[in-house]
Amino acid sequence: MYFVLFLLGVALGSFLNVLITRYNPDQKFSLSAITGRSYCDSCKKQLRWYELVPLISFIIQKRACRSCGTRLSWQYPLVEFMMGILAVLIGRLFLYGYVFSAAVTTGELYISIIFWLVVSMVLLFALMIDAKHYIIPNGTNILLFILGVIWTVWVVWLGFGREISQGSFLGHFAPLFGSFGGVVLNHIIGMLLAVVFFILIVLVSRGRGMGIGDVKLVSALGLLFGWPDIGVIVFASFIIGTILIIPLLITRQKRGSDQIPFGPFMVVASLVVLMWGTSLLQAYFDIIGKLGGGI
Ligand SMILES: [Zn+2]
Repeated sequence: MYFVLFLLGVALGSFLNVLITRYNPDQKFSLSAITGRSYCDSCKKQLRWYELVPLISFIIQKRACRSCGTRLSWQYPLVEFMMGILAVLIGRLFLYGYVFSAAVTTGELYISIIFWLVVSMVLLFALMIDAKHYIIPNGTNILLFILGVIWTVWVVWLGFGREISQGSFLGHFAPLFGSFGGVVLNHIIGMLLAVVFFILIVLVSRGRGMGIGDVKLVSALGLLFGWPDIGVIVFASFIIGTILIIPLLITRQKRGSDQIPFGPFMVVASLVVLMWGTSLLQAYFDIIGKLGGGI
């Protein structure tokens, strides 16, 4: 099962690579950009089927185009491998985790898995585009908003007549943060809180730390994940950002004033909270408990 999910993820990652490579911030995204045959970016030679096998071709060809010898980007195997791992983790989360109670049918769990495969593709796209071009396309944020609406409706629908958890990925820790009295309100207020918090950051930092693209992304994530998950995601994204930026500052690769895209941190934080939110909070409270006991 996990092997099938991994292969599915790798195949989706391969498709995602085409979207990421052919995305051009100055051009309107057209269908023809994704439907044409794959070709080498350097010599424009069309690729044969055996040059398009995810992961394998990259290794066999030793990172180079077979015709012109141009080095291939690490983006290809990286995105394929990450989507493969994400597919396995999403499968594990829904099939063996405790997102919903046992009252949910296997079919409903598979629909949830497919849904989050789509979400993780969109998130990985946002991560790669923000890292490459320092922007998060509006279309990507709109897609995340739509997915947020669909997920909220889906969780409400699953809850009809059944005792299920509210679809939080924080498990039994979710009630600690309080609820706004229902799935729909939790998702709408999660979005609003995220927007207000990020607009404050933009105002305080006068737009240097965050851009309006980050505000749009976090509001879409707020709608998708809802309260309290979005609170943990925002907190985690700042921690991840700090951990990754400090080494860059020390090795002087970046100065404090250099632009560093924040979107990737939010995407990574979202995926981490999705997969390991409960375990992370468990570890956090264990550490706090130990520190408290030591005094
Ligand atoms: Zn070539």
